[in-house]
Amino acid sequence: MAISDPQLALLPDVRPLIGDQRVSNTAGGEYEHKYAATGKPTKRVPLCGAQEMEAAVQAARQALSRWRALPAPQRRDMILRLCQLIAQNADQLAQLQTIENSVPWMFASKLPHAAVDYLTYNAGWVDKIGGDVVPTWPARAVDLALDEPYGVVAIIIPWNAPLPSLGQLLGPALAAGNTVIVKPAELAPFTSLRIGELIVDSGFPPGVVNVVPAAAQGGEALVEHPGVDKIHFTGSADTARKILAAALKNLTPVGLELGGKSALLVFEDADLLVAARQAASAAVVLSGQGCTNSTRLIVQRTVYERLMRVVKGLIKHTVVGDPCDPRTVMGPVISEAACDRILGIISRARDSGCGRLTVGGERLRGEFASGYFISPALFEDVDNKSDLAQNEIFGPVVAAMSFDSEEQAIQLANDTRYGLAAYVHTNDLNRAYRVSQELMAGNVWINGFEGIPPSAPFGGMKQSGYGRIGGLAGIREFTRPKNLWLSIRERSVSGHSESAVS
Ligand code: ADP
Repeated sequence: MAISDPQLALLPDVRPLIGDQRVSNTAGGEYEHKYAATGKPTKRVPLCGAQEMEAAVQAARQALSRWRALPAPQRRDMILRLCQLIAQNADQLAQLQTIENSVPWMFASKLPHAAVDYLTYNAGWVDKIGGDVVPTWPARAVDLALDEPYGVVAIIIPWNAPLPSLGQLLGPALAAGNTVIVKPAELAPFTSLRIGELIVDSGFPPGVVNVVPAAAQGGEALVEHPGVDKIHFTGSADTARKILAAALKNLTPVGLELGGKSALLVFEDADLLVAARQAASAAVVLSGQGCTNSTRLIVQRTVYERLMRVVKGLIKHTVVGDPCDPRTVMGPVISEAACDRILGIISRARDSGCGRLTVGGERLRGEFASGYFISPALFEDVDNKSDLAQNEIFGPVVAAMSFDSEEQAIQLANDTRYGLAAYVHTNDLNRAYRVSQELMAGNVWINGFEGIPPSAPFGGMKQSGYGRIGGLAGIREFTRPKNLWLSIRERSVSGHSESAVS
């Protein structure tokens, strides 16, 4: 399967969007974006530095009072209008997603609709956010706990799935009444910039959403800016530490959605084919570059060999190749550097003997040689204490191991510094519930994964982060309560009010 060139004519204006201006001559340099399937350059992207971050914060702050003053139905309808425009431009957005991070068309074509689902769900909250009436007994007073927006929110998104990330984060941040600065990763800026254009076309006041592609330096200028009221970061734990250090300067609150090393527990009474499909998908979906991929496969010994045979077969027969071909299931990894890093991990794991590499794990050559393709890999009989099992690889690699008892399965699943997701396959309802209660993960899926629902709280425990997006928890992530106490005065006999009873 030869690799076809993507349609570069679809690429949007790549200059940052700040207020209603497109900015040229940016202070953060330029990034030469490459198509990961061929290694060929696509477009040079201007990157924002401190100067543009300053302008973006000013624009977002200026827009704040106008945005908050708009009646809720108008703000809701703008978000819904954006949903319509995303749906109308779904084909282009999906192709941009494929160009920017080489996610195959089979998945990319679904992502604009995922973004629409997240935004639509959150649009429904706009006119329902108010607050609580707080009992004031024994005082005679009215106390209102009002849910107010933070103000200017900085959203830093990663390169692996910008469209769903934008939907998951812009949705609640805007619905709650904040103005937003979106910083896409330099590796994948195109869909965010196109969404920025659609936001303008939807009639949002200038400055409500600003899109500022930047590398680490520009990102740091944004997060340490005193005009930013709240930061939400999705990415790696190492970068999260730097962001927390920068945010410390102004004590800016930060929400973190970080990586994972999620366990997939398979008990002997499970539907093994369903479990095997999910196990194989951990290596294949987004080329293993997803934070919720179930990269540790923990299987009851009595069905271990059977399951491994099926998983191996599925992985071996995965169609890896041209992201633009609708039959392709898996594309390349994001960059040459990522490719080298992942191959290094595979080779060290093989040499250390911490497990047996039984399929894949090689750089694809021939017609794939100029792209960053690695065949999906399965390591069997892996020691859970090894680097392979303990560190997030963010590549197409699954580590499998076996267990004998339910207690041991739980102990292995929790023996990680991460806590984003966990998966359980069993047909025993009592066990499913029992085990899920003990798993240290923010999200537990039983007997299948059908995506992250817009209505459910999503986020991690331990070093997978804190804060939640999705559902009411997502709205709460972007609001903070202001308590308003109103003393009630007694009616005076003379007609003048007397001192407050409270
Ligand atoms: P990955 O390893 O998946 O690329 P990172 O955690 O490095 O993920 O980056 C995720 C996002 O954080 C990207 O948008 C990146 O540009 C941004 N970023 C990286 N370093 C910093 C930093 N020091 N301050 C702010 N943002 C940063």
